[in-house]
Amino acid sequence: VSRLILVLGDQLTPTLSALDAADRETDVVVMAEVRGEAGNPKHHPQKIALIFAAMRKFAAALIEEGWTVAYARLTDTDNAQSIDGELLRRADEFGAREVICTTPGDWRLIELLDELPLKVTRLPDTRFISTQSEFEDWAEGRKELRMEYFYRLMRKKTGILMDGDKPEGGKWNYDHDNRKPAEADLFQPKVPRFKPDDVTREVLELVADEFADHFGDLDGFAYPTTAKEAAKAADDFIANRLEGFGPYQDAMLTGEAHLYHSILSPALNIGLLDPLDLCRRAEAAYRDGKVPLNSAEGFIRQILGWREYVRGIYMMDGPGYTGRNALRHERDLPWVFWSGDTDMACLSEVVTLTRENAYAHHIQRLMITGNFALLIGADPAQVHDWYLSVYADAFEWVEAPNTIGMSQFADGGMIASKPYVSSGNYIDKMSNYCDGCAYDVRKKTGKGACPFNLLYWWFLDRHAQRFRKNPRMGTIYATWDRMDTDRKKVILSEAEEFLARLDNGETP
Ligand code: FAD
Ligand code: SF4
Repeated sequence: VSRLILVLGDQLTPTLSALDAADRETDVVVMAEVRGEAGNPKHHPQKIALIFAAMRKFAAALIEEGWTVAYARLTDTDNAQSIDGELLRRADEFGAREVICTTPGDWRLIELLDELPLKVTRLPDTRFISTQSEFEDWAEGRKELRMEYFYRLMRKKTGILMDGDKPEGGKWNYDHDNRKPAEADLFQPKVPRFKPDDVTREVLELVADEFADHFGDLDGFAYPTTAKEAAKAADDFIANRLEGFGPYQDAMLTGEAHLYHSILSPALNIGLLDPLDLCRRAEAAYRDGKVPLNSAEGFIRQILGWREYVRGIYMMDGPGYTGRNALRHERDLPWVFWSGDTDMACLSEVVTLTRENAYAHHIQRLMITGNFALLIGADPAQVHDWYLSVYADAFEWVEAPNTIGMSQFADGGMIASKPYVSSGNYIDKMSNYCDGCAYDVRKKTGKGACPFNLLYWWFLDRHAQRFRKNPRMGTIYATWDRMDTDRKKVILSEAEEFLARLDNGETP
């Protein structure tokens, strides 16, 4: 009897554990484009197109290699439109009683598979560099789960950027040399664009027809959709942008969507690239003298450190993670997150880029949209839905810990040791957004004062009880305490007025 081998849209890797465990002669690979996933939440059209196009090409490659693939296209009349529905339908069709799958990166799907009235064997996802038990052993008994220490463990485990048992160059982390603002540069290296082939074009038409009401533009879709294209994108990054990655990783420039970032996360997260291989290639570029250590280390830390660490947290904490709301924030996410319609140049820029590309880089996500959502006290579950739907690289195992944890502090500090909040000053230092803004970043109060300046203090005052004793926030609270009482009152009441206008649907 055949068994069903489930391959999800973010599991497009030939060495996937479920495929490894399967018998090509007798088993049936099940793949399905379903509305239950694409429309819940309403994902960005470019993200749906990326996944469907990559799935179709991956399925074709499997068939070429002799696999039997039961592939459901979105508009097939008998498509059950959900993952469990499709598995049950295929079980009937092929007389199968058993499903083999690689554990999904989303608790909702894990629970759904575990409840199927079929025998389900869930295998570990071996595409990660660390195992879950390795992470949990590391976490056990620790008071704080700081990424930096887990990252060191991963460096030792893989030997990447190690000099014997010491870190290459003598330090584990070279961020001190990074964090430079960027200048507009005519010779800014461009990110390669992959011209849609016939398969992608057909998918783009389908997505345009079926998901027209989702936030996001479809024109301009140019993501790699095969492992071969993704490898080209990685080559290009290592040859042309990795060198500038370290110094400029926190920089933001109007009109520059990518700067020195890799834009590899969409391909990486659906399985078209191997994370360990990417780290080794960045290390090789450093060892060959092509890129400085601070850039290679900075890039490797994002993958070997952050990416592995956030997954460990999400899987360890369990299905309740996305419901966390430690700061009890309840404001509805304002419409500006969808419309981009605001006089705040920074926010407008990031929402616009997100709509156009299904992408924004880390500091834009953390210090513009994330910072704003946290300062206004937006409901973290709604913030999570937004991030999960608008970015091409968003899958819950990586999006939720970054949003709920790092950005919104809703996990009470499991990931971040202090909330990532800032006034306009930080944004002005790291970008040129303020130069073209209707608000004045230097103004702390009064007409035209930058909203970040008002909201920053409103947030700190509101949560003083929780954060005052945080050793990393002592000086900030000392500044607040020294401020004249009348001045404080003005700041807080102007912040309240801003929030009232926002809740009223007025353009911020
Ligand atoms: P680069 O800057 O070139 O970094 C290289 C790689 O490192 C990335 O491709 C990514 O795989 C990894 N990486 C970097 N930072 C992180 C991080 N904090 N956590 C995990 N991996 C990281 N990343 C996602 O992959 N999916 C998400 O849904 C996602 N949601 C986020 C939500 C918020 C609120 C924040 C603050 C960050 C989020 N991130 C997410 C992390 C990060 O912003 C993206 O990984 C990065 O912007 C992807 O672009 P890039 O490939 O150009 O990354
Ligand atoms: Fe953003 Fe304030 Fe600068 Fe305007 S002035 S771009 S709102 S930080």
